[in-house]
Amino acid sequence: MITFYPGPSKVYSQVEKYLSDAYQSGILSVNHRSEPFMVMLKETIAMMKSKLDIPADYEVYFCSSATECWEIIAQSFVASKSLHVFNGAFGEKWLEYTQKLKPGAKGLSFEPNTLPQTADIIADKENEVICLTHNETSNGTALPFSFFAELRKQTEQVIAVDATSSMAGVEFPWEDADLWYASVQKCFGLPAGLSVLVASPRAIKQAEKICDRDYYNSFLFIRDNFLKYQTPYTPNVLGIYLAGRIMEQVAPLSEVSDQTKLRAGAWYIFLAENGYDVLVKNEEVRSDTVIAVTGTKERVTFLKKAAKESGIMLGNGYGAWKETSFRIANFPAITQQEIDLLKKCLIDNSVSKE
Ligand SMILES: *Cc1c(COP(=O)(O)O)cnc(C)c1O
Repeated sequence: MITFYPGPSKVYSQVEKYLSDAYQSGILSVNHRSEPFMVMLKETIAMMKSKLDIPADYEVYFCSSATECWEIIAQSFVASKSLHVFNGAFGEKWLEYTQKLKPGAKGLSFEPNTLPQTADIIADKENEVICLTHNETSNGTALPFSFFAELRKQTEQVIAVDATSSMAGVEFPWEDADLWYASVQKCFGLPAGLSVLVASPRAIKQAEKICDRDYYNSFLFIRDNFLKYQTPYTPNVLGIYLAGRIMEQVAPLSEVSDQTKLRAGAWYIFLAENGYDVLVKNEEVRSDTVIAVTGTKERVTFLKKAAKESGIMLGNGYGAWKETSFRIANFPAITQQEIDLLKKCLIDNSVSKE
């Protein structure tokens, strides 16, 4: 089955060999405070920083999931107030999880075809963290580069970005935000169970000021360990190993990003030409990595079934668009040949052919 599900998504085909290499290498049976583990972690971080072009003074951490990053940010970077700017289900969930720990967290919602107003975002200087979702996986919207640059110019507040379904797929303006995180089962083309958290010097300073050390995954506790290339608890060693191997294999992000954007552009043209209705009308906020297509409930059900019969798994709609949309992942591990097969299937089942 070819999968276009936007997470868990297709893993790189090389993962099969790397799994076997991991077993053969013996790394799966070593202690996480031993030399071989420390070397592996150090090399993986260096490889990731190099391939993703992460600024030298930003730090990279591995955690378990994007959801865990929501919690780490709430407990270790927010003393009492954060602002969550969202237009869909994932951004809203981040707000809800944060409110359980920090009841002072507030939401600022905006319409999917618009951009949030920076003046509204920075209005309350007491918000310790401004929380943004780079790529809203539920509806196929993304915040453009220019938005991050504009916001960074206007505030010294810590900016945290959920980049779960875009990191490693498109280039980021790293310097324009302080915390970026993602789970690896999306654009990284890896099995689930690992997340990447990238922190700027400003974010680290903020964590030091708040000084939370109350939890097993308090950021400063994680950091104490990572500075020695260790982890606070026995981590997903296999996940970290696979991430290192995949990062070694992939092209530098600028090249991957060019390909992702070319493919996304081609998808949007293709869909329009073949009578498919893209959920996001405003081209400026369309995602390059997750494409949401809308239709009646009957039509969406029909298309998902038709695709399945051709051996293709489309992504279900999510949240408010669960039954009236389907999603197409445009992640780097998916091949052009697979994309062409889905396009053929969509042509064969287009409205004009019914
Ligand atoms: C998938 C996703 C998450 C959740 O990831 P987990 O690994 O399940 O915690 C969070 N935010 C966004 C934008 C996502 O796409």
